[in-house]
Amino acid sequence: MDANGTTTIAAIREWLRNERRLGVTHWAMPTAGRERARQGDPPPPSASPSPKVIHTAVPVTSGFFVQDPTLPPLCMRELTASEAAAALSQLDAACIRGCVKCRLHESRTQTVFGVGDPRPQLVFVGEGPGADEDAQGEPFVGRAGQLLTRMIAAMTLTREQVYICNVVKCRPPGNRTPADDEMETCCPYLWRQLAILRPRVIVALGRPATQTLLGTKAPITRIRGQWGDFPPPAFSGMGLPPAKLMPTYHPAYLLRTPGAKPDVWKDLQEVMRVLGLRVPPSR
Ligand code: URA
Repeated sequence: MDANGTTTIAAIREWLRNERRLGVTHWAMPTAGRERARQGDPPPPSASPSPKVIHTAVPVTSGFFVQDPTLPPLCMRELTASEAAAALSQLDAACIRGCVKCRLHESRTQTVFGVGDPRPQLVFVGEGPGADEDAQGEPFVGRAGQLLTRMIAAMTLTREQVYICNVVKCRPPGNRTPADDEMETCCPYLWRQLAILRPRVIVALGRPATQTLLGTKAPITRIRGQWGDFPPPAFSGMGLPPAKLMPTYHPAYLLRTPGAKPDVWKDLQEVMRVLGLRVPPSR
């Protein structure tokens, strides 16, 4: 934009070039979003004048679930780390921070997108932000998050070397489990995040993340510790990048049930083996 606030043709060309490079060619933003992008403004704060809330639960089996025309298309190629970092922050700024697609936006302080390496080998997916995450805008920073950080350290990694995010990007009130329609509405964001990140391994933390990422209703107690495949069959052929998926218990569950820690450590060691990390000898 020039000093008079006029967008120049050159600036538009540059913007389109960047979008194409990042594999996000068709930003089909709602009119208000387009207007904001034209003005170069960030998305509005969540507490802005109450927009119309659309509760659009989309059946998990429908292609629309991935091919949502109001969102940028899935990233279909490997990006460099800096391209991926730019694509992630663009997805966050343009689609997520101002999202009002489900009721969770009404009570959030801010959205919680994700943190870590933009091209990681390993991604951890939890269910949704809690009170600390809602306050700080970063996933897994409360008590369960501190335990997750120690679990990552036990794997000889740091939070900066992996990527951490959630199925839903807004805190469910009272830290309740996100409802199915909230997860279905939010999932297209997670798919786009994963299509940019392209990890080799995803660790699903707890039941909601496991069931969402594997497209199953199987209980976590039955499938924990068993490798699964992402994407699930219902989404195959839609361009989601394949990854091995390890379902395990959520760190919040481990805080309540420390006796389950050896099971989770077994799962994480299995992940380490697949990633070629040296597994420490058991004591
Ligand atoms: N629990 C989650 O599932 N995600 C967080 O970010 C924090 C706690």
